[in-house]
Amino acid sequence: MLNEFVHVPRIAYFSMEIALRCEIPTYAGGLGVLAGDTLRSATDLELPMVAVSLVSRAGYFRQEIDAQGRQMEHPASWVPAGHAQSLDARVAVTIEGRKVWIGAWLYVMEGHMGGRQPVLLLDTDLDENSGDDRKITHYLYGGDNVYRLKQEIVLGLGGARLLQALGFTIRHYHMNEGHSALLGLELMRRFSYSAEDLRPGESLYDFPRVRDLCSFTTHTPVEAGHDRFPYEMVLRVLDDDFDIGMLKRLAGEDSLNMTRLALNLSEYINGVARKHAEISNAMFPGYRVHAITNGVHPYTWTAASFRQLYDHYLPGWCHEPQLLMRADCCIPDADIWQAHVQAKQHLIAKVQILTGVTLDPAIPILGFARRMTAYKRPDLLFSDLERLKAIAGKRPFQIVLAGKAHPRDENGKQIIAQLHDHARALAGTITVAYLPDYDMALAQMLTAGADVWLNTPLPPMEASGTSGMKAAFNGVPNLSVLDGWWLEGCIEGISGWAIGNAADLPDGDAQALYDKLDQVVLPLYYDDNGGWIKMMKNAISKNASYFNSHRMMRRYATEAYVR
Ligand SMILES: *Cc1c(COP(=O)(O)O)cnc(C)c1O
Repeated sequence: MLNEFVHVPRIAYFSMEIALRCEIPTYAGGLGVLAGDTLRSATDLELPMVAVSLVSRAGYFRQEIDAQGRQMEHPASWVPAGHAQSLDARVAVTIEGRKVWIGAWLYVMEGHMGGRQPVLLLDTDLDENSGDDRKITHYLYGGDNVYRLKQEIVLGLGGARLLQALGFTIRHYHMNEGHSALLGLELMRRFSYSAEDLRPGESLYDFPRVRDLCSFTTHTPVEAGHDRFPYEMVLRVLDDDFDIGMLKRLAGEDSLNMTRLALNLSEYINGVARKHAEISNAMFPGYRVHAITNGVHPYTWTAASFRQLYDHYLPGWCHEPQLLMRADCCIPDADIWQAHVQAKQHLIAKVQILTGVTLDPAIPILGFARRMTAYKRPDLLFSDLERLKAIAGKRPFQIVLAGKAHPRDENGKQIIAQLHDHARALAGTITVAYLPDYDMALAQMLTAGADVWLNTPLPPMEASGTSGMKAAFNGVPNLSVLDGWWLEGCIEGISGWAIGNAADLPDGDAQALYDKLDQVVLPLYYDDNGGWIKMMKNAISKNASYFNSHRMMRRYATEAYVR
């Protein structure tokens, strides 16, 4: 069953999480959705890849929210056999002195244009293993630091070995985040010279060859966000035969820093937006960090009503989303509005089913959905409830929210509870709905059915952000703080709106948000329907035409994979 895939050399794409489809919970948020969109674009563009990830049988988690706004976490278990084929091959890694066997599931991603790509989901839940080793690939981002290190051993070392055992020819390795950086150790082992052949001073390892084979994408604009493991733990857990002195030189003297390791073993390094690359260059002096701004997959993130429009007026857009740049001139206003009305109706119906809250189709919806964590500032909109009510008193609007907090992010959970308090306090003046269990399917409905997509991160924490790009594919303009991709996407008053200036202190952001909403966004919506539709078209023609994963993959292909 692998014959179809192994005869052509492929790019191996390693990611701890990957959003393959709505029913498979092997992702937590933006990083996994990006990995999925990467593979979806490679599928449409017929760029031969093979993705490697963990099977995460227990998923991330299913979120339920009680009447007090408390998040409850339930397992999101899935049955791999329902979607993927079990492969016979086995490879082993040594963990804590034991042999841990790794098998894999083959999931075949099938594109809507006929492309197919293999995905290997690594699994240690095998009869050959005992006790806790069977659970190493169970929980996505669960467990402690030791558990995490074990997962990264399985992903990096195990993944590289399994590709070889299955007969894949890999022309390039792409590490999506530092989690898989241990694959570099496996390549070093593979491309080392025997000691007798070396002249004094020569390296045992063929570093140029390893580096030439590897690219690394970093996603985290803060030092604390990078995985680190103390060497006493590394020595205990990863006692595979490797050269600890060399590892310290590559990954940091004090602790094993996965980002350092990836930086040192990759010839091509990139950040996920221009500003993020700048920050990364300052954070990692001595390395050249390129910028490839993220994108989203065109077909996946476009609502049915807009797909029909684009198919009719801009045929070929699914292969060349640049064609969307003509949307402003080539699609009639009435068609755009009608397509939006449909997407909004779908969202309103879903909100009713999930929460019992009734939204009014004649009133604009502000959408905000993403990981609930402090730096995203989900509560910024609610900083001054009286001001918010006053604005809504003049021109009404309604708010739809969604998002999960990581089970160990107590602060994130508190924010969810506070948002529920705010919703209660605003009842009667502003309708607020909070949708539980944010996932790909909800993201599709929300980014298409809202009228304005709101984003309020604390700069410079948003490396890129992608949900606003999904909104653009559905003609939904962004209202966002200038950070991540929006620094590149925002043309003020044309493709959307900025909250504050890039040079301002973030303290003023709430004020700036209220002012923009009150004086610009809502007046345009209510008083100038033609102007509003122009804005919608510009979101498509100026933002969706560029911030898509086809453009992103064409750049990875020509700048990272083929050099
Ligand atoms: C797109 C997406 C994200 C990322 O959204 P950001 O705006 O980048 O935070 C997170 N979760 C899900 C389910 C998504 O679809």
